[in-house]
Amino acid sequence: MKRLQSILLSIDGKGYKAYRQLTGDYAFDDFQLRVDHVQGDPFASPSRLRVIMPWEQAILPDDAREPQPRSIAVRDWLGRVFREAASDTPEIRIDAGRQTVLDRTAVLFTHAGIEIRFTVSLPANGRTILGKTARDLLCRTLPRIVRRTLLPDQRDDDAMRRHADVVEDQAALRQALDARGLVAFVADDAVLPRRSGVDDRPLESAVPFRAPDSLRVELPTPNAGPVTGLGIPRGITLVVGGGFHGKSTLLSAVQFGVYDHIPGDGRHQVVADPEAVKLRAEDGRAVHTLDLSPFINALPYDKSTKAFSTELASGSTSQAAALQEALETGSRTLLVDEDTSATNFMIRDARMQALVAKDEEPITPFVDRIAELRDRLGVSTVLVMGGSGDYFGAADTVIQMHDYQPRDVTAEARQIAAANPSERRIEAPEPLQAPLPRCLDVRSVEPSGKRGKRRVKVRGTDALEFGDDVVDLRALEQLVDASQARAIGLLLPAAGTADAIWLEDAPRWFRSWLTQPWDALTRRPDGDLVRPRLAELMAVLNRLRSARFRPGNPDDSTP
Ligand code: ADP
Ligand code: MG
Repeated sequence: MKRLQSILLSIDGKGYKAYRQLTGDYAFDDFQLRVDHVQGDPFASPSRLRVIMPWEQAILPDDAREPQPRSIAVRDWLGRVFREAASDTPEIRIDAGRQTVLDRTAVLFTHAGIEIRFTVSLPANGRTILGKTARDLLCRTLPRIVRRTLLPDQRDDDAMRRHADVVEDQAALRQALDARGLVAFVADDAVLPRRSGVDDRPLESAVPFRAPDSLRVELPTPNAGPVTGLGIPRGITLVVGGGFHGKSTLLSAVQFGVYDHIPGDGRHQVVADPEAVKLRAEDGRAVHTLDLSPFINALPYDKSTKAFSTELASGSTSQAAALQEALETGSRTLLVDEDTSATNFMIRDARMQALVAKDEEPITPFVDRIAELRDRLGVSTVLVMGGSGDYFGAADTVIQMHDYQPRDVTAEARQIAAANPSERRIEAPEPLQAPLPRCLDVRSVEPSGKRGKRRVKVRGTDALEFGDDVVDLRALEQLVDASQARAIGLLLPAAGTADAIWLEDAPRWFRSWLTQPWDALTRRPDGDLVRPRLAELMAVLNRLRSARFRPGNPDDSTP
């Protein structure tokens, strides 16, 4: 620390570039400080630093260090405590979580100890170094924040344990789903609505959730004991009900149930199949060499849809693409909301069938495929549909949201479907098949810009700049953190280690890709990465306009 202090005092009053000599390691009494990267000027992105406190100083309870998911939760919690301890020091920032608990690189456990990565805006007056201010910041304030976060006598280990307990319970609930034949679980007393579209905290005056008796299940958890709530079974589940009664709120709680939430979030006992994918319309996106034929065929002028590409998909095309891509990624649970769906993808009623003949309509609507998805491919759907009864015939479970509470109306819906047979005919040209294989030319996944400079940059959760390509992320609802997008941008070029990736085999390939290259990523000094899901990684790849795909598998000689 003495050395750091004397450097900072010696460069006081000099030009900003003199901060460069800070790069390196410094020993403090109970931790190491490493300056990985110094910003070039006061307006550039801030400098990257990390501290490493050896395990002998930062003693943690055994079950906090390992295994996952407790260790992920404890790392997440330490990041939050650091942020809180630094809340009066705007120059020091850490990439900590909000409502969701994610696997972040801001706090890591290594053999050497606990490593915390953060950024510091090194102080200046114009471009003149403020050496004494920097000394106070790095040699006084920072050690206080670090010790407040890590030293056992300053930590609130009860809060840490609660955080880890709640996360461990969510993992247990999620793991219990499959054996119980469920795709999602919403606990009694859960609080689903959020304060606003830009505030993800629980709505304060919310009506707590209460499962209908007929759909109530009890699942065990290691810490909270048995938990009761609504079990959403495999198969086809419709969520119906009047407008404003809470249908979309239920579905969004389910779609974020692939992630863990903090204690007090209200959704901390709401879990879903970890590979569940929300499908929605996204007109304007690109689609690459994708088999859309089960949903769209016989386009005007006989354009084939078995290997369909477009730079500008329509609403229905984009939703069909999202579905086929989800199947390719291996998802067995699809989540669909009428609010974000293309009408002509969802329904085609008897009157329209009478007016426009099937051979004049390229779209086979989802209503004609949903049962086959279940019966032929083992894919479940949870569908919010308040606007059409045409799905009653296929549904296994029908839940009505009324005054924000679920009712089981399966029997009534069945009776209604039997008493009022739909006039519409099922119009599926051929039996449903899994999407035809295609492969990715991995050399096309390259973030070099025009001048050969690698460029991966995120704009929040809205866009990823990848080379000269800008991927619109706004329709990827389950991408919840900009640091997931950043990690995806850095993980994608790792595909270059293969010749081509057969997309049918992709889930296996990408899963290993998510493990080894992720471990490599954590060895970079970046403290602002979050381990993404396979689904979002693939979703970004599928939207990358520069990516090249071809039909068939890599061994096919004919293109
Ligand atoms: P729907 O999809 O059925 O039209 P939404 O899910 O969009 O309805 O909900 C309508 C409004 O009701 C939203 O503003 C939402 O925040 C609010 N809301 C939903 N569930 C609850 C609840 N349990 N308690 C209080 N408000 C709720
Ligand atoms: Mg809605």
